Amino acid sequence: MTSLLAPLSGLKGIGPEREKCLAAADIHQLLELLLVTPVGYARTPELVPRPVAGLCAFTAVLERVRTGRMRGRRGGFLELTLRSEEGRLRARWYGRGGSNLSWPPGTELLLTGRGASAAEEPFVIERCQVVGSDEELARALQTLHPRWPTIPGLAAGTLRGLIHQALQLDLPDPLAAWIGAEMLPLGLAFRRVHEPVLETEADAGMERLLFDRFVALLVALGTGGAAALAPEIRVSQKIAARIDARLPFALTAGQRTVLDEILSDMQVTRPMRRVLQGDVGSGKTAVAVAAALATVAAGRSVIFLAPTQELAEQHHQLLVRWLKGSRVKLALKTGGSAARARELAEADIITATHAVLRAKLDGKRLGLVVIDEQQRFGVRNRLAAVKMGVAVHALSVSATPIPRTLMLTLLGDLPRSQLAGMPPGRAGLTTRLANVEEALAAVREAAARGERSFVVFPAITAAGVPALVREGVRWQRRELAGIPVAMVHGAQTAEERQSGLESFRTGQTLVLLATVLVEVGLDVPEATQMVILGAERHGLATLHQLRGRVGRGAKAGTCHIVPGAGAKPEALQRMETLVRERDGFRLADADLAQRGPGEVLGVRQAGHGGVLRVARVREDRLLDLARSTAAKVLAAGDADARDYLMALQSAVSPEFRPQDAL
Ligand code: ADP
Ligand code: MG
Repeated sequence: MTSLLAPLSGLKGIGPEREKCLAAADIHQLLELLLVTPVGYARTPELVPRPVAGLCAFTAVLERVRTGRMRGRRGGFLELTLRSEEGRLRARWYGRGGSNLSWPPGTELLLTGRGASAAEEPFVIERCQVVGSDEELARALQTLHPRWPTIPGLAAGTLRGLIHQALQLDLPDPLAAWIGAEMLPLGLAFRRVHEPVLETEADAGMERLLFDRFVALLVALGTGGAAALAPEIRVSQKIAARIDARLPFALTAGQRTVLDEILSDMQVTRPMRRVLQGDVGSGKTAVAVAAALATVAAGRSVIFLAPTQELAEQHHQLLVRWLKGSRVKLALKTGGSAARARELAEADIITATHAVLRAKLDGKRLGLVVIDEQQRFGVRNRLAAVKMGVAVHALSVSATPIPRTLMLTLLGDLPRSQLAGMPPGRAGLTTRLANVEEALAAVREAAARGERSFVVFPAITAAGVPALVREGVRWQRRELAGIPVAMVHGAQTAEERQSGLESFRTGQTLVLLATVLVEVGLDVPEATQMVILGAERHGLATLHQLRGRVGRGAKAGTCHIVPGAGAKPEALQRMETLVRERDGFRLADADLAQRGPGEVLGVRQAGHGGVLRVARVREDRLLDLARSTAAKVLAAGDADARDYLMALQSAVSPEFRPQDAL
């Protein structure tokens, strides 16, 4: 049996070059390769008697094959001469130049591809299947054809070949002992997802994968190390007063309540595993900082984790401002900024991205790990954070409101603090549907008043250049001429991004053209306009997060939701819900009703939508089953199952696939 965690070098045809491409996409082991699941499945189009212009399928008999080469194009093609019901025709199969077709003349084929508009042009074959009998034809017509995501540098056929090889291996099912016959065995599930014949098969396979992700999430949440002893963090009145004095504002009653809950957990040696929840902009950072300061006052250090470098820098700067003149030692550790080992060892509060988890740190003094925007972290990183110290308190800060009905299932018995209300002095926020012209006009008017605006462009493919770069430059010249504009996107270096953000933060630039990179945590209270282009591409949670970037200050904010031309009715419905509903939790409930738990929790990778629709009712049941399975795995301390689940979770965690988020 081959381990799911075995390196890819065991597969045929993996050289250093391909290994590098795969590694760049964070695919190192069999499991990660198998998790590159299709983004969609194509069906064979309706049969036509002979090719028509555009995508079509027809049957024909093979007469002759010859190999052709094209100038200036890599690889050759096969040229097929075919006889259809209505005469003879030529067809080309590109990318097959070197291969030998073993089909003899007279073989009956089903051809799918693109017909040319001019009669003398050849038909371009995308797929070619042998259909000797009516049954074979019927089956071929029903067969689904997966489309896998593109991995830069790797031909689609190569990826398909590697996945096919992996599927032939004897793959273990690490959860076999804990689940009944109700679920497909893992190896079979992967085969069904990657090489289904029927839609129902792909669904069943995906259901198993979805189930495993639920279990992974639950196992990670339940891994608390109950026996470990965490430091007691006691807060005297004097210290409490000193902490208050460090904050630039008085905490609201809501903030005070949740802070008290957190501090009372940290007073005892049982490691805290509290989740702090609150709507966007409710002031969770100040609460987390207060908890951090209490820890430092007790002689312990803190790691303050943020999912992006930008957010880590923002938190670090905030700490620098709030703690000016104090003796608290601060350090910043992100992938881009390497604090020196000594600095890290001496720091009281390390603000960091997950890069810190790979740094060699002495965890002995560690008292608290704050995981801001914890929904953005993979479980492996969350666990690594908790394991850094022998035992530490952990505060997970979750900005995405979890639907009430899912909270129990998901968080189980984890204590949570719900931050109620909003900080005072907010002028508020209006959300409206708008077209591009209206939104741009609002941005221009705001700029004329000296106010700042965000314009968020939809992310496009992982490999492509963000639309922002092309469109944004054009806008800068025309629609936004004369207005100082900054641009921030994933194709930039961290320094470029940082300086773009900085110019917007300080007001040097009044418009920030950005990708969804700005979704999490960014705090620029002076911004009043948020324009979200291609809004149909985002879920409600993201849209809500994005609009939460404005209306944070003394001036009222407006969020302009701009749907793209191809927005589907259900996407428009989602946007209308957003216009209507301000409260993040009620919104989350609506989101759940519209999309189902798999999507809402983000355990389903984008694109699994396609033809796959695990029925919602079924998904709820899946959650129940996942809960009991997770409990069994935990109780048994099954190390194999746990390793698998951790690998599974980190293989899909956003920070390992940053390109998805940009
Ligand atoms: P989130 O909960 O989304 O992380 P933040 O912690 O970033 O929100 O807070 C949003 C804004 O509210 C920040 O600009 C912060 O300075 C401000 N803020 C937080 N608490 C208070 C308070 N008690 N009084 C006034 N302003 C506050
Ligand atoms: Mg925040």
